[in-house]
Amino acid sequence: MVSDEQIRNVIGVDVGGTKTLAARVVLPVSESSAMQPEVQDRELVGSSSHEQAVLSQIEIAAAALIDRSDQQVDAIGVGLAGFIGRDGIARSAPNAAGLIGLDVGAALSARFGVPVAIDNDANCVAVAAQSLFGTRTGSILAITLGTGIGGGIVLDGDLYRGANGFAGEPGHMVINPAGPECPCGQRGCWERYASGSGLGWLGRTAAAAGLADVVLARAGSVEGIDGEIITELMQEGDTGASRIFAEFAGYVALGLANLILLLDPEVIVIGGGLAAVGDELTALVQQDLVDRFPAASRDRTVKILSAPLGPEAGALGAALLASELLAGSGS
Ligand SMILES: [Zn+2]
Repeated sequence: MVSDEQIRNVIGVDVGGTKTLAARVVLPVSESSAMQPEVQDRELVGSSSHEQAVLSQIEIAAAALIDRSDQQVDAIGVGLAGFIGRDGIARSAPNAAGLIGLDVGAALSARFGVPVAIDNDANCVAVAAQSLFGTRTGSILAITLGTGIGGGIVLDGDLYRGANGFAGEPGHMVINPAGPECPCGQRGCWERYASGSGLGWLGRTAAAAGLADVVLARAGSVEGIDGEIITELMQEGDTGASRIFAEFAGYVALGLANLILLLDPEVIVIGGGLAAVGDELTALVQQDLVDRFPAASRDRTVKILSAPLGPEAGALGAALLASELLAGSGS
């Protein structure tokens, strides 16, 4: 039995495009403890990109978890998509544009009276994966495939943030300079092809060329085709959708191949909405990488895994990052 003095009670919040998930996480004070961090309660609220709305949704979710627990909360962590500076202030936040430039940490700290950590959501997934895989020394690349692509890098056991805190944003690596325009100002960014939006675009391109009649019939129009329809029909066994999904997985693998050459990670964790597809995606990506790197694959293969805990991984990672604020103040 673990006594109250040996555990932390931390709230982690993952702000998504349509939903904000908060989780109350119990974790050991000491890293040497055999106890694993555990999600004990969760609260889901709808999201909106309006500044006050996002802030109040985070507050409402955190307050609900605090009300339901008889334990005092020690810290709060928040994960957001976008460029989050080392000062915890968002420079870009596609799911929460109203929070850009705002000191969310200070606002939440004033409201709840505890230290608050703000970080990139994919950084949170990387930290959660590191904790759950029980490897304090390994190198992990976390990729979130949702509307865009996020990234988090754990190198030799530590989260790598870069000079400004923006490291691990591979969604805007250019993989085709003649490709479609990206809101970031470049053309042919990886996330134009390998995110949920990219999957929809590949589907619309195939349907416009007459290569996806069943997909077109299900969507009703070329414009109506999105990533979810392709995934659904692929899982139902439709040939056209399966071909589009395989092309999509090839683009996921192309970007990962570049990142593997740079980082040589032990494990690549796929999070975000598309992680729910599971083995059908990871197996295609893994096979593509074996085909690309036959020599390297003879000795070892990078493990491609769906993020453990699914959508809760971001919230758990945010809680773990918040708990680092308490290091040294342990009882
Ligand atoms: Zn871009």
